[in-house]
Amino acid sequence: MNIVLFGAPGAGKGTQSALIVEKLGMVQISTGDLFRAAIKNKTELGKQAQAFMDKGELVPDSVTIQMVDEVLVNLKSKSFILDGFPRTQAQAEGLGKILKQRGLEIGKAIFLEVPKEELLGRLTGRRVCKACGAVYHVQTKPAKVDGVCDNCGGEVVQRNDDKVDVIATRLKTYEDNTLPLRSYYKEQGKYVELNGAQDSDKVFSALKTVVQGG
Ligand code: ADP
Ligand code: ADP
Ligand code: ZN
Repeated sequence: MNIVLFGAPGAGKGTQSALIVEKLGMVQISTGDLFRAAIKNKTELGKQAQAFMDKGELVPDSVTIQMVDEVLVNLKSKSFILDGFPRTQAQAEGLGKILKQRGLEIGKAIFLEVPKEELLGRLTGRRVCKACGAVYHVQTKPAKVDGVCDNCGGEVVQRNDDKVDVIATRLKTYEDNTLPLRSYYKEQGKYVELNGAQDSDKVFSALKTVVQGG
């Protein structure tokens, strides 16, 4: 089954997607990771995306949809999880169209519900590996050696957009643009809501049940 995983910045989308890749062998498509890779590689796409990301705004829909379309072309027949896409109604409609063209569909759109009070602490404490993208948290999931990735030895740093002023814009952007997707997927009968405020192994076991069609 193909899945959309959505929720606020800091809801745990990246953490859960990594578990799904590791334990269930699905393919993760994270638009945030794709944009960060484009920035790192100094591509034209990266140049376009960076200004929006630094401000905590969304990259324009047309650019984002096209990027996802290009990834979907190369997927072969593996089941995928969309992490952080769609984030707007236009992206959700665009996704529906490109999947239909390829004879694919989304099985479930899973919303990770986390109270706003919890998100700020998650985002300000988040650290990521510059090399492999592994996600840490200074309090709840510190790297074994401070600043060094457990997986690959890469440098563990704070994302530029995880600074307090940018976080405020990202949360507002999310409330205005992404929260309304709940009704979009409810109308399609694909909506599932999970409690994202539990320990991440509990979230994962609930997610796994949905992904495996339970
Ligand atoms: P988070 O994990 O905190 O939700 P992401 O890594 O998913 O953040 O996204 C980081 C930034 O990349 C967003 O603030 C936005 O600027 C851009 N971005 C990611 N996904 C999308 C998308 N689907 N549409 C537009 N912009 C996006
Ligand atoms: P998103 O991709 O939705 O922005 P992340 O998976 O990057 O979210 O998680 C944001 C931060 O919260 C990270 O530092 C991560 O370690 C932490 N985190 C993720 N899931 C949980 C959880 N269930 N409980 C506590 N902290 C969590
Ligand atoms: Zn790493």
